[in-house]
Amino acid sequence: MNIHEYQAKQLLAKYGVAVPFEIPARSLAEVRPAADKILATGSAKIVVKSQIHAGGRGKGTFKSGFQGGVKVASSVDEAAGFAEKMLGNVLVTKQTGTDGRRVQTLLIAAGAKIKKEFYLAVLLDRANSRPLVMASTEGGMDIEKVAEKSPEKIFKEWIDPAVGIMPFQARKIAAALGLKGDLFNAGAKFVTGVFTTWWECDASMVEINPMCVVELPVGTTCRSSASDTQQRVPAEMVMALDAKISLDDNALYRHKDIQEMRDLNEESPLEIEASKFNLNYIKLDGSIACLVNGAGLAMATMDIIQHFGGSPANFLDVGGGASKEQVTAAFKIILQDPNVKGILVNIFGGIMDCNVIATGIVAAVKETQLKIPLVVRLEGNNVIAGKKTLAESGLSLITGDSMADAAQKVVKAVGK
Ligand code: ADP
Ligand code: MG
Repeated sequence: MNIHEYQAKQLLAKYGVAVPFEIPARSLAEVRPAADKILATGSAKIVVKSQIHAGGRGKGTFKSGFQGGVKVASSVDEAAGFAEKMLGNVLVTKQTGTDGRRVQTLLIAAGAKIKKEFYLAVLLDRANSRPLVMASTEGGMDIEKVAEKSPEKIFKEWIDPAVGIMPFQARKIAAALGLKGDLFNAGAKFVTGVFTTWWECDASMVEINPMCVVELPVGTTCRSSASDTQQRVPAEMVMALDAKISLDDNALYRHKDIQEMRDLNEESPLEIEASKFNLNYIKLDGSIACLVNGAGLAMATMDIIQHFGGSPANFLDVGGGASKEQVTAAFKIILQDPNVKGILVNIFGGIMDCNVIATGIVAAVKETQLKIPLVVRLEGNNVIAGKKTLAESGLSLITGDSMADAAQKVVKAVGK
């Protein structure tokens, strides 16, 4: 599951990561009061930020032609003007695809004076079975480009999951970013906070881009006493100006508060429907729908369709022990995609009983009055009974003897 920037920052703040003062707004009426509050903190600038589950917003373009999903305003009026151009409109960025995303929430944030921008991320390095902290001085930029053109500028620190992040590791990262003095300590604290957020929330990724050294805005400087003019006050601090958090769905049951952050507006309606039936469905651009049990077999099926010149319309894993209801739901979901011109069912019966699947297929074909070619390949547990059910159903479906045979048949049927 993904969450919005403003929600990610709420979680980060809980674990001691500094973020700007900011307020989410869901309607234009909420923008002006929020902007007033920003100015009241002493900040001279108000940043209006489109909240969608995709990055690259700053350089994005609205379908209306308006440039930029992140805008800096100098007055409440200007902020309200930007908000009007964004709310309810579709923003296209490098990460949204050409369809873009409709902006339904804005984040009204205090504008920070940025001195330096860094990149910081925590993710799971499966190859090393360890959390990995990645940091770079090339912040605010496309990190994929940095990784490609100057990989030496990405500093990596692997964390022992049994121990967690050690203070020396946080300091190593702060040093790698070139932070000194107070900023060095603030940087180490920041890195520790970001790692703790990743760990405690069961996140699969936390990405801060940019992590910034900012000039402390007027109004937030603190002195131990007003008369103590000798007291040294830090003029700068380290802050997260953007944040992205992806969560591990399998651990979400442990986080009621995070579950509530789910925004269905950001998910495809078919994927929401699929999740109700515990189906793992991801829509793709091709024309051949696949209904498969097991993620590995689903991927192999997509590969073989492509190998024989077709293109998969989706990834769909019905799981190890799918029921008749799940198979029917899966068919209905598949058929809602107008690009689908044929279906390939590829089932390996291990835990799954092939006859249960066959019964489900027959029921689903009848219920949905299927009119496009359907190729079924069954193998494994109770396959003879399954094939009998299909043969006796009177339906005009095509059977495949092997995966390659079934894939070729569906590609041919769709091609016609
Ligand atoms: P995206 O990565 O989706 O483009 P960001 O939140 O990173 O969105 O915003 C784009 C850029 O806008 C940032 O790299 C930063 O330079 C600037 N920015 C974002 N938030 C603030 C803020 N609160 N104050 C000042 N500048 C900001
Ligand atoms: Mg960013």
